[in-house]
Amino acid sequence: MLSWIAGAILVLAIVGTPLVWLYQIIHELLKYFLSDWYNRNLFFTTVEPARKTFLENNFNYYKALSQRNQQIFERRLQKFIDMKNFEGRDELVITVEMETLVAAAAIQVTFGFPSVYLEHFDRIILYPDVYYSTINETYHRGEVNSKGIIVLSWKNLLEGYGQQTDGRNLALHEMAHALKISDVNSAAGYDFFDPIVFQRFIAYARKEMNLIADGESSLFRKYAATNDHEFFAVALENFFERPAEFRDFHEAMYESLAALMNQDPLQLNSH
Ligand SMILES: [Zn+2]
Repeated sequence: MLSWIAGAILVLAIVGTPLVWLYQIIHELLKYFLSDWYNRNLFFTTVEPARKTFLENNFNYYKALSQRNQQIFERRLQKFIDMKNFEGRDELVITVEMETLVAAAAIQVTFGFPSVYLEHFDRIILYPDVYYSTINETYHRGEVNSKGIIVLSWKNLLEGYGQQTDGRNLALHEMAHALKISDVNSAAGYDFFDPIVFQRFIAYARKEMNLIADGESSLFRKYAATNDHEFFAVALENFFERPAEFRDFHEAMYESLAALMNQDPLQLNSH
């Protein structure tokens, strides 16, 4: 009898540890694939017709996509809106147009990452115009704060998309900051920026920032030279609004950004 018990303990000791490992591996795999499936699964999401009409009439990026990608864009946009709380300040009443334009900027920036919805940010606050920030006592057009809030001036947001080829776009700028913060805050294994590609981009960026600081003419406005974060945000404004000029100006930097963002605005219709 005792030898039976000893035998059983021995078998458990030998098989037990690998069994626990096997369980952990299967658990991790299921978690990874199921969450990926869930995030990509847009079958049950349909965009409200007014939002689709708004995109068709106003949003150049959307218009340039293939039909299939337009459908993905619409559904992702609706999902983004369903996930976020929009709040108007200074008596601003949030409209379908406001939600759609903000969400469209977010989906434009994240279109290369099918599972990314800037989850760290659940509140979007809109002011009618520039607003006074009591923190640094200046007027702001927009900001992204690490507590999970994106703040935008509706007037400046509209101006950004009123001119879609001048390399200035408030919503894209703030979404770029939100994307970078999301990457840092993502759970392990979900940091979607390739660190090697990011370093390549930052190396080009720092050279360009030095040239700007020295007074050289650049495609990027002076503000881009403030720091790495601002350069990334300004670079993304140019990447989406005037990609051909960007590529002509600095092809290697453009290519590094296209690789980093997992999309190329010069080839939107190719899928
Ligand atoms: Zn900024």
